[in-house]
Amino acid sequence: MIYSFNEFDEDIKVKLGFFHLSSCSGCQIAFLDMFDELTEILDTVEIAYSNLLTNKKEIPKINVAFVEGSFSIGFEPHIKLVREIKEKADIVVAVGGCAAFGGIRRLNVGAQAPQPSHQASIPITELGMLKGKVKYVIPGCPPNPYLLYRFLLALLEIDEDFLQPFEHMVFSTFASGYDILTEVVNKGLCTGCGTCICACPTKAIEFSRKTQRPIFNRTLCVGCGSCLAGCPQSFKPYPQPVYE
Ligand code: SF4
Ligand code: SF4
Ligand code: SF4
Repeated sequence: MIYSFNEFDEDIKVKLGFFHLSSCSGCQIAFLDMFDELTEILDTVEIAYSNLLTNKKEIPKINVAFVEGSFSIGFEPHIKLVREIKEKADIVVAVGGCAAFGGIRRLNVGAQAPQPSHQASIPITELGMLKGKVKYVIPGCPPNPYLLYRFLLALLEIDEDFLQPFEHMVFSTFASGYDILTEVVNKGLCTGCGTCICACPTKAIEFSRKTQRPIFNRTLCVGCGSCLAGCPQSFKPYPQPVYE
């Protein structure tokens, strides 16, 4: 069991909260882009807190906190907010590359090439204060609105098969085009399926006709993690289903 909503009374709506740290708010906008679908499940969920959608000043008790953006080290408002999220939320979901892997916040030092070692801000998946609280990662910059919707449905239905990759990504410290090369292509696991190329929002990955494998343009990568998440070979180190 990845996570259980057993403690939630079936007649009580699941309370969702949306929070942003250092971010462009694009991930929250992506949630708004699934508005039509969201209205269909409003009898099941309640948007209990969002700086874009509600006027609430106080953060209420919530079941699921969707957090976008990176944590700025030593920044008092972020420390205060994260403490409150930890106290008020049952589980936390890191939404988008910034919250999950660092994303553009790790690429923002003097227009240098991506340097994941830059530590001015860190993804919430690496934050000691939220250790054990961040249960899932949704990759993307921003994530596809339909993916957000499907994730939300899976969360409500406790669809473990669907949720499993999102849970595994909590432990992927970096998830960028680098990882596609080192974890998949260089290990000989790549089948040349092209999924990573289609998943990349910045066209940082191209297909080499010569090698029949993806090639990576590091200057275009924003560290959103979509390529690694989409790659069917990237989960190879994890236990695979056994077919009788
Ligand atoms: S992941 Fe992309 S869309 Fe989301 S907050 Fe970061 S920069 Fe904005
Ligand atoms: S290569 Fe593209 S899909 Fe992969 S992390 Fe970079 S921007 Fe995202
Ligand atoms: S998605 Fe994975 S297997 Fe497919 S081309 Fe990209 S790296 Fe190779």
